[in-house]
Amino acid sequence: MNVLILGSGQLARMMALAGVPLGIEVRAVDVGTLKVVNPIDKKVMAIHLETAIEAADAISVEFEHIPEPLLEQVNRSGKLMPSVESIAAGADRVKEKALLDKLDIANCPYMIVDDAAKLEQAVEQLGEKLIIKASRDGYDGYGQWRLSSKEQLPEIKQALAELDLKKVPLVVEKMLSFEREVSLVGARGKNGQVALYPLVENLHHQGQLHTCVAPAPAITPELVTQAEQIFTALASELNYVGVLAVEFFQMGDSLLVNEIAPRVHNSGHWSMQGADTCQFENHLRAICELPLGSTQVLAPSVMLNVIGCDLPPKDMLSVPRTHLHGYMKTPRSKRKMGHINITGNDYADLGQAMQKLQKWLPKSYFPTLNSEAERLLQIK
Ligand code: ATP
Ligand code: MG
Repeated sequence: MNVLILGSGQLARMMALAGVPLGIEVRAVDVGTLKVVNPIDKKVMAIHLETAIEAADAISVEFEHIPEPLLEQVNRSGKLMPSVESIAAGADRVKEKALLDKLDIANCPYMIVDDAAKLEQAVEQLGEKLIIKASRDGYDGYGQWRLSSKEQLPEIKQALAELDLKKVPLVVEKMLSFEREVSLVGARGKNGQVALYPLVENLHHQGQLHTCVAPAPAITPELVTQAEQIFTALASELNYVGVLAVEFFQMGDSLLVNEIAPRVHNSGHWSMQGADTCQFENHLRAICELPLGSTQVLAPSVMLNVIGCDLPPKDMLSVPRTHLHGYMKTPRSKRKMGHINITGNDYADLGQAMQKLQKWLPKSYFPTLNSEAERLLQIK
């Protein structure tokens, strides 16, 4: 079988690697150059985009911000999964909010702002602690501005001055103080079969995911039910095919949706070692109409993102049950370079391994490592 992925970053690469044993060949499209590339080594392939579209059994995306003409071209093939509507719901925060509201799914209080002059009104309505998000093209905390008091409004307005808010409005959200962030990753097949991974806990630093603990500690059955109902409602409404991720804020016993990602997700990377079938294989299975694989957890896991620095020295692999996945990229500030998966018998095991890893992982790039290790050591 042959799968074409729009986007040629690490997610396409990990899908390609997962496809190898199944005999699924994955090609990727560099959405900047529109060249077809091998997602594993990024080498340009001797095949035109049109031919690759024609040759594909299924076409999917590794990120939601795909240039519209390309998305339309691919959509005409009838092979795109998930659907254009699903991708748009992840790419455009205005559409995402409309979808959540339509389904009555709790999300952060917000206001859509298409004119910076209306920001005062947002402060009146939502309070002065706000997070202002561009409705399109934001990821990893890019395209976001934080307001902690009214006095900062002129400064923020200046930062927003170069944006065309009529074209790309802002979604202004109330800054919530939540207990923690969790997410649910799952796959849905064409026949409606659903396979869900457990809720995982995500620790962000400066708007970017740094650490993911799977399964999330101290999850009540009520939280699981809420998360699964929300996932199912979204996936059914979108007639979704593939892996879908839903990011939540936990506030007491309730989950609020932060955002959805219509693709394999960073908070699912732990599944490469920690689950029976990893998210990348399950995405391929879903879009190729194969039976979904078991999402059973094989071991509690931690995933650490390597962000903005070179990969750690391979000596770190001397820490038992530690795996390194490099993405073959050149370091740049805030760029995801790879991740480390650790498995253990329990959370304390994971905490111990993280403490041992500190030798190779500098605090400047792994600011949450130490405190996370200590926290996991405390969990019985
Ligand atoms: P990513 O690509 O990492 O998912 P993103 O750029 O799409 O990030 P969001 O998920 O909307 O952006 O926000 C990034 C992070 O900022 C969240 O995970 C959370 O830590 C914080 N954040 C976002 N919205 C709010 C909010 N309303 N209140 C408090 N914190 C928030
Ligand atoms: Mg997010």
